[in-house]
Amino acid sequence: MVKELNDSVTYWVKADYNKSGLAQDASPVRALQSAFRKLAKRWTKRFDDMADKLAAKFANAALVNSDVSLSTAFKDIGVTVQFKMTEPMNNALQAVIAENVNLIKSIPEQYLTQVETLVMQSAGRGRDLGYLADELQKRYGITKRRAALIARDQNNKATSVMQVARQTSLGITEGIWHHSHAGKVPRPSHVKANGTKFDLSKGLLLDGEWLLPGEAINCRCTWSAVIPGLN
Ligand SMILES: [Zn+2]
Repeated sequence: MVKELNDSVTYWVKADYNKSGLAQDASPVRALQSAFRKLAKRWTKRFDDMADKLAAKFANAALVNSDVSLSTAFKDIGVTVQFKMTEPMNNALQAVIAENVNLIKSIPEQYLTQVETLVMQSAGRGRDLGYLADELQKRYGITKRRAALIARDQNNKATSVMQVARQTSLGITEGIWHHSHAGKVPRPSHVKANGTKFDLSKGLLLDGEWLLPGEAINCRCTWSAVIPGLN
């Protein structure tokens, strides 16, 4: 959708920018702005509609994934557990959905605000379409990277939050931190935390912050549940 958004804006700019008569007088610039805002409004609505559906789907997938991995851990020790939706789990799920919706909505918001500024500045200064097209391409790159970071980060965070809620509702209170060894630049504190037992309600105090595995940005650490009476 970020690509579609950028294609649509780029198409509009190419078709309308030169028609605006640039900085010759104020009204074409204003007409350009009002036309851009109409386009922006349409895209904001499309993202808004998509955000609610996508966030719910995403949070449910995180829930299913964490249940599958926990159920495997139990199966390995010969125990079958029934997973029911508990109130803390539902609260965690709703919190994940709400945060996700806001982040998804912020993607077109930031992009469209930046592009509007760019278009208006270019028009006001009489810059040519080539300059504007280059700048748009840069904004597209930034937006795409930001969307990817949000998706990755939310996925790790949602998995952590749902796992804590699920494990807590099964009477599990502790976990053992596992460093992922996946990142190119691992955080030394996370490497050191590998194998450390921690309280699920608190996490570990790393670099001055109480964190669960997967909670810090780009953190791919995980944990295994300490099953009472077994570990
Ligand atoms: Zn980590």
